[in-house]
Amino acid sequence: MRFASVALDISTRALEGTFDYAIPEAIEGQVTVGVTVLVPFSHRSAVGYVMATSDEPPKDVAPSRLLAVVQVLAPAAFGPHSAAVARWIAHEYACPLADAVRLFLAPGQKVRVTRESSDAPWELVAEKAAPADARWVSLAPGAQGFEPIRNASRQREVLEALSAGAMRLAELSATIPGASTAVNALAKRGVVTVETRRQIRGGEKTTLSSAHAPRPERLTQGQLAAVAAIDEARSRAAGDVVLVDGVTGSGKTEVYLEAIERTLVSGKGALVLVPEISLTAQTVGRFRSRFGDDVAVLHSRLSTGERFDQWDLVRQGAVHVVVGARSALFAPLANVGLIIIDEEHESSYKQDSSPRYHAREVAARMAQEWGCALVLGSATPSLESLRRCEVGSWRGARWTRVEMSERPGGAVLPKVSIVDMASQFRGGSRSVFSEPLRRALGGVAERREKAVLLLNRRGFANFLMCRECGCVPECPHCSTALTYHERTHALVCHTCGRSWPVRAYPDPSTRCPNCGSRYLGAYGVGTQRVEDELSMLLPKDVEVIRMDADTTRAKGAHQRLLEQFDAAECAVLVGTQMIAKGLDFPEVTLVGVINADTMLKLPDFRAAERTYDLLEQVAGRAGRGGRPGEVIVQTYWATHPAMQAVLAHRRDVFLAPELAERKEASYPPFSRLANVLVWGKNARAVGDASANMAAALREKVAGLPGWEVLGPADCVKARVKDRTRRHVMVKAPLDADLGGVVSECAAGIGRGMGINMALDIDAYDLM
Ligand code: ADP
Ligand code: ZN
Ligand code: ZN
Repeated sequence: MRFASVALDISTRALEGTFDYAIPEAIEGQVTVGVTVLVPFSHRSAVGYVMATSDEPPKDVAPSRLLAVVQVLAPAAFGPHSAAVARWIAHEYACPLADAVRLFLAPGQKVRVTRESSDAPWELVAEKAAPADARWVSLAPGAQGFEPIRNASRQREVLEALSAGAMRLAELSATIPGASTAVNALAKRGVVTVETRRQIRGGEKTTLSSAHAPRPERLTQGQLAAVAAIDEARSRAAGDVVLVDGVTGSGKTEVYLEAIERTLVSGKGALVLVPEISLTAQTVGRFRSRFGDDVAVLHSRLSTGERFDQWDLVRQGAVHVVVGARSALFAPLANVGLIIIDEEHESSYKQDSSPRYHAREVAARMAQEWGCALVLGSATPSLESLRRCEVGSWRGARWTRVEMSERPGGAVLPKVSIVDMASQFRGGSRSVFSEPLRRALGGVAERREKAVLLLNRRGFANFLMCRECGCVPECPHCSTALTYHERTHALVCHTCGRSWPVRAYPDPSTRCPNCGSRYLGAYGVGTQRVEDELSMLLPKDVEVIRMDADTTRAKGAHQRLLEQFDAAECAVLVGTQMIAKGLDFPEVTLVGVINADTMLKLPDFRAAERTYDLLEQVAGRAGRGGRPGEVIVQTYWATHPAMQAVLAHRRDVFLAPELAERKEASYPPFSRLANVLVWGKNARAVGDASANMAAALREKVAGLPGWEVLGPADCVKARVKDRTRRHVMVKAPLDADLGGVVSECAAGIGRGMGINMALDIDAYDLM
């Protein structure tokens, strides 16, 4: 008799840990780690996932009293290493085990089960995610010398189309009306054959010139050093981490390609994560051009069927390189030899719903579990990763930083200038474009080159700012920038909760607290305004392409716009954050940042880091080809270290004061931070629950060094969809069991009806 420990997936109950079942002999061969099973649980049936199997009966229950697995519902989606990682995620991120396990399941697998009649077997509901088949038509040996009768023009067309190779029947029918009748007739005579082949959905094609990766003649010194460090990490087989700290355009992707190639030679596979937004045809194309059909691609813009097919290719062992967004980390690769996270500083690697995991942390855990190497790449590494490399280790693994400070082939980093917008305003300019940026755009139009303009939309309109001196009113008690609430005409501090009445410009009562100017108004520029001013500024033959949430909503729109920009002779690409990353267009000679500082004053300790990252990344879009690039950054805070660091291409200008501040206030990377969010319709119940949670946490960590509980306080987004939102923050030492402590406290809190609580460990979104 064998036994299985099963993680139950019961939506109404957050169950901790696993439950033990006996495996009936009849299905013994089917029950392995990773399968989905149906089991009895408290007088009904439940779906669960097998986390482990054993020959030994569990110690605490008599084997005769053990219930039995009823049925296997879905084949194995993961193995023992993944099961261990899922358990770790559940503990580390304070979530139900089933939530963590679901990350590893086949796309489209729903936990609901149905059956046709009371004695029929149960079936798992899958949403359009079964394998799809297609009918393929090809020429048969009988086609040799076959000549259709005169008036059979359809047959003639079909044969001609097939002379270039087999085609799908659907494809033939789309181009030749009546093709299927002709195919039937031809099949009867043995001229063509029709067969059913498995159709693989989700392969994309592109015309982008930069979407292939010709192998460079030789690697740069920096690239060689990076590849050597990765080799060593792989051979130590202990989950070592290599941080490839390379300036934009230094050839990090080439390092990944080389390291993957070596991993494949050793008989293992590689997982490659890139931020969702830069998972364009451009990036994918570079991997496909090197590894061909050995690549599966996974991201959220694929349909469920497409994602299933790509996932299933990996499970069958048909491909060994997986390129994808955050969730690709959980692809069923059998033998992981290398994990790569590109742009590792990106906050999109943190999932904002349960399980609230960070891909970097999970990957580090996975690398230890598999005994493989983890490669992190960025031009602006996170302060967490930089800190771990400085210390040299983190959670028992080695962390090494390799610097790549030059672009190959003599391309140089662009020249950066900073424009002080307050002085532009005092000089009488009311345009969104400063004089230097206007001149530079004119130059691009004249020389028939290309420009990229970044319009920052994040953090937008949250503040009042003086247009004459750049001052943003701050809380005198917390040095937090005050957030402007238009509805109540109040400035609010989200750290301490104090508020002040104020009306924005053009109300005659407004005055800047710093210089007395009347121009104290909400800060923000719309895309429309930028487009209008651009069209007045530029000659008609310069194409203006806008890329933001509105213009990229349709499937494939993102890629189409980039292809349009690529094909244009002379063009300006105006866009939000999404244009800052990964674009590699050698003809771009100018990058303009219209408003560099909208995020700088957000009440979030990472605000300056995010601003610096964004500016350095977008600046890297200029001068990637033969011609030198220029970057113009418009800001109201020209002296801020983030601006000065970008100006000098020197990270330490930003890093030194930033790290000092973080250390002083005990923020990451010197501590861990959790955010407990409470929300619901009943404001009083939300208030009670958040207060109780804060009290429970305070009691739990009282007297422990390095622990601190902040709040409860209103969130910056104090009301969303008629729900009141409050939060409690917890700081803890780096080696603390933060997930364990927070979930234990949360378990003891009565919440009442309609009150929700989210436990966000190592939180990124504090709004
Ligand atoms: P990053 O990912 O660091 O921004 P990329 O990998 O996109 O940089 O490389 C920038 C450009 O340099 C690409 O066009 C790439 O083909 C080219 N490149 C990379 N490595 C080399 C090399 N060793 N020699 C010549 N060109 C290279
Ligand atoms: Zn002022
Ligand atoms: Zn305050």
